[in-house]
Amino acid sequence: MAQAPTPTAAHFATPGWKPGSKGLARRGLMLVLSSPSGAGKTTLSRRLLALDDRITMSVSVTTRPPRPGEEDGKDYFFVSVAEFERLRDSGELLEHATVFGNLYGTPRAAVEAALTAGRDVLFDIDWQGTQQLDQSAQQDLVKVFLLPPSAGDLEQRLRTRAQDSDEVVRQRMSKASDEISHFTEYDYILINQDIDDSLAKLTAILNAERLKRRRLTGLAEFVKSLRDAL
Ligand code: 5GP
Repeated sequence: MAQAPTPTAAHFATPGWKPGSKGLARRGLMLVLSSPSGAGKTTLSRRLLALDDRITMSVSVTTRPPRPGEEDGKDYFFVSVAEFERLRDSGELLEHATVFGNLYGTPRAAVEAALTAGRDVLFDIDWQGTQQLDQSAQQDLVKVFLLPPSAGDLEQRLRTRAQDSDEVVRQRMSKASDEISHFTEYDYILINQDIDDSLAKLTAILNAERLKRRRLTGLAEFVKSLRDAL
């Protein structure tokens, strides 16, 4: 007899297998993934987005120049300092911060539309941005911090990424310790020893958080109809 396949993270993300979709409306959540640069956050984000069609990436604006292979509108919206300041000063950013001398920020409108429509949003932002979201959107926020398994591993990943100069790699290594010191401000910690294992854990966090009672905007109505029929 054929054996049933072992459930994996992929099963939870299969289109059509939606525990929240059986009539219950839900508000989307904001999944923040922070880590020092080089801990594997970009790879983990891409894997999650490929696996789960109910979460979309928040695309930040930045004044940093594009790296080779980066696309405007997909990886970031690359803008001038003047344009960034216009967005910030007109309240169009949910949060913003200076990281490695460049400005970064999260456009507000796309996030608010997604959450209202019951879609989840993934954020690759640093601890400064996370603190600001904690002030303004605490109920929607799920904060995950990704740690490298060792300092040597982090350095190796920064070097093999080969997209930054030696000077930038040195800067990022010394910044990593500061970034890591904020781990206590996060809800969940993942030590990224193995990307498949981290992905499975991240998917488990996401699926559990989706079931939080306060996100289920259609729950009161559902329970009322249930009780009325009893
Ligand atoms: P990178 O230049 O390597 O893409 O990103 C550098 C750092 O900036 C990363 O730690 C990333 O999480 C952070 N970052 C990217 N976008 C934003 C943003 O919109 N807001 C904040 N606060 N940090 C961001």
